[in-house]
Amino acid sequence: MNLVDFISEFPDEASCKARWKAYRDKVGVICPKCGCREHYWKSDKESYECKQCQYRQSLRANTVMHRSQLPFRYWFITMHLLTSTKKSFSAKELQRQLGHNNYNPIWAMLHKLRMAMGKRDARYELKGMIELDEGFFSTETKVGEKGKKVKRGRGSQKKTKVLVMAESEPVDDQKKKRYKKPRKVNHIKMFAIDDLKAATIDPIVSENVAEESTVNTDNSTSYTNFDKLVKAHRPKVIPKEKVGELLPWVHIAISNAKRLLLDIYHDLKPEYLQSYLNEFCYKFNRRYFGNDLFDRLLIAGVSYKNEFRYNVK
Ligand SMILES: [Zn+2]
Repeated sequence: MNLVDFISEFPDEASCKARWKAYRDKVGVICPKCGCREHYWKSDKESYECKQCQYRQSLRANTVMHRSQLPFRYWFITMHLLTSTKKSFSAKELQRQLGHNNYNPIWAMLHKLRMAMGKRDARYELKGMIELDEGFFSTETKVGEKGKKVKRGRGSQKKTKVLVMAESEPVDDQKKKRYKKPRKVNHIKMFAIDDLKAATIDPIVSENVAEESTVNTDNSTSYTNFDKLVKAHRPKVIPKEKVGELLPWVHIAISNAKRLLLDIYHDLKPEYLQSYLNEFCYKFNRRYFGNDLFDRLLIAGVSYKNEFRYNVK
């Protein structure tokens, strides 16, 4: 959907509300009190009323818009921009475009949508041949670390560690001409992590990778338990210059994500890095969805109750 189509489809608050309701009805409204799935629609109150216990919830309740005061149209414009732009944009830019006085609610709206993206992607389990490695993303120094001497390199307080996994199938000879790379990528996942201990990484792998998978990594000691988590673990000694060849997609994903973040966000706080990674992975994993992406984000938006919390001074 281009901007002209978007404007004619969603010219006002009423058209956005109507679409939001249609998607809530499609996904199904659940009563938070009794779990009942049957509701009356009270159009005068713009609320659902549970047929069993008469509990009422608003059109926004228990969705990504839970307790939001922003107009529906802001949410729709933001979802449109998030799904139609190749890169991303800052909350400051969005605030300017919406002409809204207050920065914080706009910034929070973006994070709420990214959280819904992350929840949607969490439903996918990676399987088949998987590349796994770590990336080190530049972030602001954590509050407690400020004033301390800055370490250099991988252990630096200015870097946040990110575990990256990519489904990466070898391309067979017949199809080689169509693909420039020796491997074809499907889904990817990225997780900001505090450290590279096996105790941190193992649960993420067992939760996100199917047991029947084969995982390719370097020979880091962080991965020593992988053979218990998946069918096959193939650790290899990988010299730096061979990384692009042996683990191509994790490294393409890492450098693309880094470039994107660097372009748009300055002073990235480590506690919000995951949110930006959610957006990057969500878009990457749906790169062939085209026009459907907006509808998919609407479905994600009505499906998950917001849990994003922030402290506004
Ligand atoms: Zn109920």
